[in-house]
Amino acid sequence: MKYDITELLLHPGRRIKIDVREDDLRNLDPNIAAPITGQLTFQNAVEAFLVTGKVKTALRLDCARCLEPFALPVEVEVDEQFPIHLIQPQKGGKPVPAPKEAVPEDDWDEDLMDLADNILDGPLFDVGELLRQLVLLEAPLQPLCQESCRGLCPFCGCNFNNGQCECKGGNHPPTPPLC
Ligand SMILES: [Zn+2]
Ligand SMILES: [Zn+2]
Repeated sequence: MKYDITELLLHPGRRIKIDVREDDLRNLDPNIAAPITGQLTFQNAVEAFLVTGKVKTALRLDCARCLEPFALPVEVEVDEQFPIHLIQPQKGGKPVPAPKEAVPEDDWDEDLMDLADNILDGPLFDVGELLRQLVLLEAPLQPLCQESCRGLCPFCGCNFNNGQCECKGGNHPPTPPLC
């Protein structure tokens, strides 16, 4: 969903709360397994534009032990700031100059400027794209379908979560056979 934040930018200090429900991201990004829902507050803090709040969704991941795909519920605390001079709206065809208090362009780091480039289109703020990027950062390096996942038999590849294989304990060879 893209929000037009013109009104907000014309009123220093103003804030608005929005209910978020991003359904379509599931179709756009195979790693997102559920709608992203929650609440965000947009605030024109004069020196920067703030987005805060909390959202939840689920990520589709492959278990590092048994390799089965599973959905991991995640909750994300959103606390982002954006350069306000990038999103100054037009008023009567003329761009509204950035406030004197605005953090100067050179003081923002490059990663954030790249992110801002992706989610800002004039006064349109792409909430879905921001949240997509933030929730993907929640993916653990070693995702586990469950803490107690028993993994795969190193010899026959059987998934121990579904039962035992023929190799049972000491009966398998000391090293996996070469194929
Ligand atoms: Zn597993
Ligand atoms: Zn086995």
